[in-house]
Amino acid sequence: MQYRKYAQTGKDISIIGFGGMRFGKDDEEAVRVIHRAVETGINYFDTAPGYCQDRSESLFGQAFKTLKDAVYVSTKSSIYSQPKADDVRKRIDQALARMNIDRIHFFHMWCIMDWEHFERVMAPDGPYEGAVKARAEGLVEHIVFSTHANGAEIRRMCDSRAFEGITLGYNILNYTNRYDGILAAHENGMGVAIMNPLGGGMVPSAAEKLGFLIRHEGESVVQSALRFVLSHPEVTTALAGMGKIEHVEENAVMGDRITGPDPEFLVLIKAQYQELGQALCTACKYCLPCPENIDIPSVLTSLNYTFMGMDKTAHAFYGWMKKDAGEKWVSPDQCIDCGLCEERCTQHLEVRDLLRQALELFETIGKSSE
Ligand code: SF4
Ligand code: SF4
Repeated sequence: MQYRKYAQTGKDISIIGFGGMRFGKDDEEAVRVIHRAVETGINYFDTAPGYCQDRSESLFGQAFKTLKDAVYVSTKSSIYSQPKADDVRKRIDQALARMNIDRIHFFHMWCIMDWEHFERVMAPDGPYEGAVKARAEGLVEHIVFSTHANGAEIRRMCDSRAFEGITLGYNILNYTNRYDGILAAHENGMGVAIMNPLGGGMVPSAAEKLGFLIRHEGESVVQSALRFVLSHPEVTTALAGMGKIEHVEENAVMGDRITGPDPEFLVLIKAQYQELGQALCTACKYCLPCPENIDIPSVLTSLNYTFMGMDKTAHAFYGWMKKDAGEKWVSPDQCIDCGLCEERCTQHLEVRDLLRQALELFETIGKSSE
């Protein structure tokens, strides 16, 4: 297993991190999987309340009874469940008890969506203040955050210098939108943990289209997607969800094989992706607001799935988005052709044309009236 320094913390972290969101129903199997991961040299274990029907932290706790000094543990609190400093302290106490440990190495302000969310996390008596107090008491070693914001917002958050690390979703499908965030973290001396290196399952599902990722004999597209992420010199570790021994074995192989960052590989892959990437929306939201309140990123994300040959998923995703929005949903046919979205689009997409395609594909009512 290869290791990289988690920036200013000085900790040597395995380049493959263990994502604790894929455990099955069998507790003993979960413990065996964690132990096997430790045997392969994986030493970064990421969990959160709620993962696996809220069992994940406790499963780590069972495994850590014999391992607690051998690994680094990452868990989280969310502003939705823990809005105040005292709530965060209770969350930390709960996590420590569940995991049978006396300190959390990497404590996340979880899932910061945008700058406004960040400001609420940092407000007096808010979650960040609770984490800082816990760090002063030795219950937390490093305060970090995870985010789904766009690159420019992530840069602003990193420039605050309030955090020692970041966890963010990054993969071949969204790198154009997120790379600036990774760079900003690196420039601010922060560690970078990558979640979602497989694009929420889109990478394996679109294996044929993404076959150009495979540049090393004997590697699968999934393994090559991990290689893509870890070829960035700014990245410390890539988190892979593991619920079975075979997941550990497959990922650990890459932990041995990827011996260092590979900028040449990145140049090659990014060049090959360019054509495909120009057709994909990265959900960065720069096109918003739309004067008609059309949720452009959601509509175009649905369309992405069809470009990847995943028609069923595309329809399901569109339906789910629509249902979730309820009365707030605005059909793409309400577009007034103002063109603002296209002026702002980071991917230079012909948004209006794509919306028409989505309408044609997903809105059966519109089709039947033609
Ligand atoms: S062109 Fe249509 S989708 Fe784009 S901003 Fe204007 S109204 Fe919204
Ligand atoms: S349409 Fe363009 S600007 Fe809007 S979310 Fe997609 S990629 Fe970003």
